[in-house]
Amino acid sequence: VPVLFLHGVERHYQQGDATLNILNGAELAIWAGQSVALVAPSGAGKSTLLHIAGLLEHPDHGEVYIDGRATAILPDSERTRIRRNEIGFVYQFHRLLPEFSALENVIMPQMIRGLSKSEAAKRATELLGYLGLKNRLTHRPAELSGGEQQRVAIARAVANAPRILLADEPTGNLDVHTAEHVFNALHQLVRASGLATIIATHNMELAARMDRRVTLQEGKVVEME
Ligand code: ADP
Ligand code: ADP
Repeated sequence: VPVLFLHGVERHYQQGDATLNILNGAELAIWAGQSVALVAPSGAGKSTLLHIAGLLEHPDHGEVYIDGRATAILPDSERTRIRRNEIGFVYQFHRLLPEFSALENVIMPQMIRGLSKSEAAKRATELLGYLGLKNRLTHRPAELSGGEQQRVAIARAVANAPRILLADEPTGNLDVHTAEHVFNALHQLVRASGLATIIATHNMELAARMDRRVTLQEGKVVEME
């Protein structure tokens, strides 16, 4: 079964008298180890799709299956558990905790999950090292470059070894060179860990290097090429 399967997903927003059919029967299946670029103009519904896939929002209709398991009927506590342990998020703006170091930002989700501080610190150190941040462990976000901040955010997203990684324009705030650097780090990690990944991006060059490219048309997911 696919790791992530969106089936018949609908999301409609009311805007005055008009109804926006942002998602209108969206279908998307992603298998372990597959990276999918979601390429669509602003306002097309990329964030909405990622929020629904990440169990942050419920669709109006349709279902999100994770490892074949329907999630709509699960209690909020179980949806939260899945979100914490099986799904990682990366945003356009890093959303790191500003008063904590890079290391602490990556330790925290693991401790929330129940790991000891020493176990969490070991994995955080390994991950940050893998992402080229060995010499940035004690820096706070404000002391890091934009690219470094995003790499810390990536480390945090995968700290609990999720099955799914959802990234919403993770390089959208970076210059071309830094975007390339951050994308390479992300891509290498995805390859190495067999994550099922969706990256929403406007960058066609980066999208071209992923396994699949999809777009949104009239609320449906359409494969590109
Ligand atoms: P994208 O990520 O592709 O830019 P979004 O998913 O953020 O698109 O938004 C899709 C559309 O839905 C936009 O037109 C946006 O204005 C609208 N929208 C998003 N969230 C809401 C909301 N909570 N209420 C009403 N309209 C919304
Ligand atoms: P990256 O390609 O990883 O984004 P940059 O080329 O942007 O790295 O930055 C190179 C170095 O300059 C970084 O290692 C960082 O330590 C330092 N640096 C960049 N911006 C800042 C900043 N705003 N505050 C402190 N150091 C910075």
